[in-house]
Amino acid sequence: MRAGKAGTGIRRWPLSARLLVLSSLVTILGFSAVCGSVMLDMRRGEEVLARQSSENLATTIDADIGRTVELYDLSLRAVVTGIMTPEIGQLSKEMRQLILFDNAATASHFGPIQVFNAHGDLTVDAASLNPAPLNKSDEDFFKVHVRDGERGLYISRPTLHRGAYSIVLSRRITDSDGNFAGAVVGSIRFSYFHDLFGRLRLAPGDTITVFRRDGMVIMRTPFDIEMIGTSAKDSPVMRAVGGLADGTYSGFGGLDNVNRLYVWRDSSRPLVVIVGKPWEGIYSQWRKQAIRIGGIVLGLILFITAGTLFLVREIARRARAESRLEELSTTDALTGLRNRRKFDIDIEQEWRRAIRQSRPLAVLLIDADHFKMFNDTYGHQPGDQALMSIADCIGGSVNRAGDCAARYGGEEFAVLLPGTSAEDALVVAERIRLRVEQLPAEPGKLTVSIGIASLTPLVTMEYTGLVEAADKALYAAKAAGRNRSVIAAAPYLLMAA
Ligand code: GH3
Ligand code: MG
Ligand code: MG
Repeated sequence: MRAGKAGTGIRRWPLSARLLVLSSLVTILGFSAVCGSVMLDMRRGEEVLARQSSENLATTIDADIGRTVELYDLSLRAVVTGIMTPEIGQLSKEMRQLILFDNAATASHFGPIQVFNAHGDLTVDAASLNPAPLNKSDEDFFKVHVRDGERGLYISRPTLHRGAYSIVLSRRITDSDGNFAGAVVGSIRFSYFHDLFGRLRLAPGDTITVFRRDGMVIMRTPFDIEMIGTSAKDSPVMRAVGGLADGTYSGFGGLDNVNRLYVWRDSSRPLVVIVGKPWEGIYSQWRKQAIRIGGIVLGLILFITAGTLFLVREIARRARAESRLEELSTTDALTGLRNRRKFDIDIEQEWRRAIRQSRPLAVLLIDADHFKMFNDTYGHQPGDQALMSIADCIGGSVNRAGDCAARYGGEEFAVLLPGTSAEDALVVAERIRLRVEQLPAEPGKLTVSIGIASLTPLVTMEYTGLVEAADKALYAAKAAGRNRSVIAAAPYLLMAA
């Protein structure tokens, strides 16, 4: 019992409680692992979906803008070719207009094409037979074409062109000697982009940005005039685009402070379309589901935990009750020592252990002297009190783990001392005897006689022999005058064999 009180915690729980805790723990962990993995899969799914839809959007817009620019560029090329044809210069203005400018270049979002000569003076205008004098030699497109004969199509910074925000497209006119002979200039109005983006259903925070390949922002939705024409060359997203035709970039784009997934397709065209989707939006649906599922799982975990704790407490309570019952069933009610039943169980067990370990086992049989007289003189009640005092003396003298002090019956007691020789047992016996002797002689003097037997048993022996030998020694102690301890003589022990 004393050993049982030392040490608390899970190791003291019954096996069933520990198994229950373990199985609940495994269930909770398994449950959490499955839910965690499902939620991660769902998250990955959302990401894949966002990537795909952004890619599709980028491809579609890129193709539309690419086609539009190409179409308009074809008209510009046709005008360049026309201007360089000497016969066309000899035609009337009306005829020249008809031949130079086809219908394609007159679509609603396209500005009228203009031709400037090598000095930057407007010479031909699709919108007017007699254009007002205009010089564009200061414009960047003009300077670019003067400088660079290989430029081809040049897309300028978006400007207010003929009263509407537009991107200006231009091509160089090179004469037969390879010299600069002017530029053909047209424009695509922002209304084209507004119209294109207006047809799309974008989620809040989504962006579509059209960049010139050198990083200049040509158009952006949501539209912000402040951003148009600025250079985003050094923005993280444009650095990520680099020379990659297709790709994705995750992070802050540089134009605003939102963490997005940016996707672009086929950046080999003059304009790069980058679709941005905020991660916040990509995961918003998933987050709602994760919170819902997480809440349910948390609820279940709490339920399992509460149930487990309740059952563990119940098991522990029952275990305590059982051990209390067992203790009661092995305790003598009057003296609090072990009872005869427990002594018999213990001696059998210790006997077998002594055989296995070849160690001695000692038994003391203690009998109150002249107890009948004590009873008869002072009454049964004081007799019981006296028995309790003797039991205290015995219990207080026996304190090794494995020792068993029991009431053997009536006014007789027995003590089991495993691993104890007869001499050592005599020391214990004398301690008991002296303690009893020193008890206050109230209402009468108490003494005990003790029979001692100790032997190292062999397999062929029975433990009853040891008890009988102790009994004989007790008889001898009585015969020798009581209030003494007697060790069983060797012949008795041999008889036990
Ligand atoms: P001896 O010295 O030879 O042992 O003499 P004794 O009187 O003790 O001998 P005996 O064994 O004949 O007497 C035992 C007495 O112990 C009988 C009974 O009165 C008393 N006794 C036995 N059990 C109890 C008990 O539970 N309570 C009380 N008060 N007395 C008991
Ligand atoms: Mg007796
Ligand atoms: Mg007696």
